[in-house]
Amino acid sequence: SRRETDGARQEEDAPEAALRPQSLAEFTGQKASRENLAIFIEAARARGEALDHVLLHGPPGLGKTTLAQIVARELGVGFRATSGPVIQRAGDLAAILTNLQPRDVLFIDEIHRLQPAIEEILYPAMEDFQLDLVIGEGPAARSVRIDLAPFTLVAATTRAGLLATPLRDRFGIPLRLVFYTPDELRLIVLRGAGKLGMELTEEGAGEIARRSRGTPRIAGRLLRRVRDFALVAGKGRIDRQIADAALSRLEVDAQGLDSMDRRYLRRIAEHHHGGPVGVETLAAALAEARDTLEDVVEPYLIQEGFVLRTSRGRMLGERAWRYLGLTPPASSTT
Ligand code: ADP
Repeated sequence: SRRETDGARQEEDAPEAALRPQSLAEFTGQKASRENLAIFIEAARARGEALDHVLLHGPPGLGKTTLAQIVARELGVGFRATSGPVIQRAGDLAAILTNLQPRDVLFIDEIHRLQPAIEEILYPAMEDFQLDLVIGEGPAARSVRIDLAPFTLVAATTRAGLLATPLRDRFGIPLRLVFYTPDELRLIVLRGAGKLGMELTEEGAGEIARRSRGTPRIAGRLLRRVRDFALVAGKGRIDRQIADAALSRLEVDAQGLDSMDRRYLRRIAEHHHGGPVGVETLAAALAEARDTLEDVVEPYLIQEGFVLRTSRGRMLGERAWRYLGLTPPASSTT
């Protein structure tokens, strides 16, 4: 699955879950999404109705799963999680839907990977809380309609553009998650250090934050690696210097870019004169899935001005040339 091919950036383990914020108040960043959710949750609670369906989109590791869990907790309802690729047959989805209690939250991760036939079942379920199933085959086949408890679908996807329009249109609350600022990540890192019982200075936290690609999942992972490093080095208190030494060993450079980022940028500079070059060509040359480049690698590089997405392909931005210490070719338009 893509979770596996995405490697380290997607890793999810028990210590990561331990760092998950448990309430909207504890959830740092994503101000616009958080404020919207707070209002809609309060209204749904006041009316005693299921919350409208929520679509969370944005790069991996920004808190989509975390927010889905928080929504259920704040609503005071049950939480059930699955993912697009896991639902193979209509019966799988039917079993999940018929087991939901009134106003429960059903979380479907990677909803863009749902099979079209299963998507069709989801439409009436989302709209009218009804399940239309065909039972049996041939002349004996008949369709049955089952009433479902009103529920809230919270779905996550890396790019909203990957969803079929009829599916996307059925979400009353679409929310786009954005990369976190270094200040937000510093708060997240400091809170995480507290939970892990670590002694971390403000500067140490700032160093980890700046080098986390705007992503809490990466910040949490770097925090744990820095903790290991400090333990082995016999340092109880983690300051900027120790954080820097640990992160450099992990091949996370001062700009927060990792080895995959560097391979990607160098490839465009050295083999394509800075571009434009198509994403398929890059994926083949780097032996990475195109999806991984588009969902995991590129969004941050584009936001930070290392890469430009043009109609003719990817081009290095001015910042990438400076970063690589290279001079852009004279013909370059950047
Ligand atoms: P996604 O579903 O978008 O891939 P997750 O919700 O699984 O991301 O978040 C990845 C990890 O990052 C979580 O386990 C959690 O520890 C941390 N995290 C995400 N968002 C926040 C946040 N706003 N504050 C603190 N930690 C966060």
